Amino acid sequence: MDFENRRAAGIKSSPSMAIAMAAKKLAAEGHDIIDLSLGEPDFEPPAHVAEAAIAAIRKGGIRYGAPAGMDSLRQAIVQKFKRENGLDYATGDVMVANGAKQILFDIFLATLEPGDEVIIPTPCWVSYGDIVSLHGGRPVYVSCGADTGFKMSAEQLEAVMTPKTRWLMLNSPSNPTGAIYSSEEYRRLAEVLARHTQVLIVSDEIYEHVLLNDTPFVSFVQACPDLKERTLIVNGVSKAYAMTGWRLGYAAGPTALISTLNKIQSQSVSCVSAVAQAAALAALTGDQSFVAEGARRFAGRARIMVDRLSLLDDLDFIAPDGAFYAFIGVGRLFGRKTLNGGVIEDDTGFAAHLLHAFGLSSVPGAAFGAPGFIRLSIAASECELEDACDRLAAMIQSLK
Ligand code: PLP
Repeated sequence: MDFENRRAAGIKSSPSMAIAMAAKKLAAEGHDIIDLSLGEPDFEPPAHVAEAAIAAIRKGGIRYGAPAGMDSLRQAIVQKFKRENGLDYATGDVMVANGAKQILFDIFLATLEPGDEVIIPTPCWVSYGDIVSLHGGRPVYVSCGADTGFKMSAEQLEAVMTPKTRWLMLNSPSNPTGAIYSSEEYRRLAEVLARHTQVLIVSDEIYEHVLLNDTPFVSFVQACPDLKERTLIVNGVSKAYAMTGWRLGYAAGPTALISTLNKIQSQSVSCVSAVAQAAALAALTGDQSFVAEGARRFAGRARIMVDRLSLLDDLDFIAPDGAFYAFIGVGRLFGRKTLNGGVIEDDTGFAAHLLHAFGLSSVPGAAFGAPGFIRLSIAASECELEDACDRLAAMIQSLK
């Protein structure tokens, strides 16, 4: 019996989730594992967030709500865009969903016709390509190397534009590279986009607040206001407020697109949990010092990784500007022999050996469309990061 149609068969489970599960299993079996595969803050949300959720439960009356989200939360999101990004949206231009990931899912469900193309600069987050494929779209990957800071140039964008291009997916700060586009870099892309009026832009700004040095964050719409009517900004509380498991993302964009997304939401998940919405409202309207404090912590951890990794031979490593990952080139170690007689053929083999022989879980670059790299999350304690660097160093030293 076949339980998959062509679209489901054409995608894979999230590789980072799969690796995290494998690492958890090894740890449960008693192995000494440091798991740096998943990207989530390792601290709790601010106390007032949990209290708002508990108060919502105590108050009761938790029923189905509006597909777009509670009015109060949507207003708070409108205020967030005004306060932090200098952008004006009306309440009807914003919506709430079960994580930023669900919004990405819904926009392609809503807009793609079979064979429509979606331009995805790589390295990119593991889920982008499969979400596009699942909805009958064709991901068009554009490889952006370390020489351009892992960012796409206007020339690269122009070269892949076709009449079938429907979306461009941008993600700054980037998972996995930590690259941040400047206003100037965005404007150069905008000049190309101005000539291709059928193309919509999704700007995934989920790591907006995870800034690791002085490189400023700029929202795509802030940099390119002329493209506001063709751009959907996707964001959420997962990374900024350490609320990954609460599942709350939000989007702002053209009213007509938001209303289509709400229609889909009404026929799929109905609405987001009212408890999570109450918590997100508290996060967005309460004391914001937690957000800067989180960034400060991650910046300290990034410094540990930069200091330690720069001492290791044979790695290629660019310090990240944002997000919470170290994206490390390991290609120079391919072809070397392991102590048990194997050969490191590629990044998948490298990550497998690092996990099974040295107890350090990473995600191979192939999962991000960038073979030759591994990604380590820096969302772990300073102690774990030091230990992780020791294990990576031990593995490199063991290769002959
Ligand atoms: N976008 C990027 C680039 C991510 O790295 C992630 C999570 O890792 C998400 C979106 C998903 O965010 P959410 O938890 O809001 O679904």
